[in-house]
Amino acid sequence: MSEGKPCDYTVKETQDYLVSGLTEDGRFRVLAARTTLVAEEGRRRHRTSRTVAAALGRSLTCAAMVAATLDDNQSATLRFLGDGPSGGIVAEGRNLGDHIGVRGYVANPDVELPLKAPGKLDVGGVVGSDGFLYVTKDLGLREMYTGSARLQSGEIGIDLAYYYTVSEQLPTAVSVGVRIEGANAAGASGRSGWVSGAGGLMIQVMPGHDPDTATQAIDLIQSNLDGIGPVSMRMKEGVLPEDLVEAVFRGVGKADLLNRVPIKFECKCSRERALRTLSTLGEEDLRRLAGEQESTEVRCHFCNEVYRFSAQEIREYASTLREENEESERDPS
Ligand SMILES: [Zn+2]
Repeated sequence: MSEGKPCDYTVKETQDYLVSGLTEDGRFRVLAARTTLVAEEGRRRHRTSRTVAAALGRSLTCAAMVAATLDDNQSATLRFLGDGPSGGIVAEGRNLGDHIGVRGYVANPDVELPLKAPGKLDVGGVVGSDGFLYVTKDLGLREMYTGSARLQSGEIGIDLAYYYTVSEQLPTAVSVGVRIEGANAAGASGRSGWVSGAGGLMIQVMPGHDPDTATQAIDLIQSNLDGIGPVSMRMKEGVLPEDLVEAVFRGVGKADLLNRVPIKFECKCSRERALRTLSTLGEEDLRRLAGEQESTEVRCHFCNEVYRFSAQEIREYASTLREENEESERDPS
């Protein structure tokens, strides 16, 4: 499928990336992503069950695609708050110009449900279909926009499509999938398994184009989507995002790909930031903490990284806090 591609292509083929573009007539926007490594990193970092790995991987894929619709240095946070046992899922995508950074977490990463059908993880069951999807876009300069829509199934892709259609009036189709190897093994519980393929495809009718006049094209796109089948399987087989775009517009028209960017699991946390989160304890509690335990751990929700601080470091930080407080008392501006 990737025969005859220029050789600079092969280097990039090892990493996750996303392509986006418009059909030549400007009617449809398309985004296609491979997120195999990102989904696997989410699973590994949060030590999730297989079904939660699929739910988180789908959410991260959606966050990457939403971020790709934004300008450089803008970001989007997707919160899938369903009534299922996984609890809420938060996925953030940041458009950093030369790449898209994603990170995310799940309230209860290790819950598991029986398979819905042979080989079919019950993502909708684990997330829950009663609840809301909230999408917050940070457009820079403290300009925030939050929209929401009722969850439709908890299957993530359908929920994002519904959000766009009702909340942003952009008729949208989304197909996202994460293939977990070992899902067919006896029993559905446990943390075994790994991601062998993950990706997403999103098609939108652009503003100013009435979907009613495009019903023929939309029907064709829908039948092409059905023909493509699970995106996760296609990614596992080595199909490229570019190939998905071509397949989805077969018989509809040609799409001009305008952008091609790597996607990485990436967090904003650091030792300094982690230490600063302890400031809410206040100086006295910090000193007590340093007296009670040899080291203090701060865990980043988003990436599950653990930062350890010695009692000595905690004491030093408590002193820094006192100095800062004294300064602000002298100069309360
Ligand atoms: Zn982090």
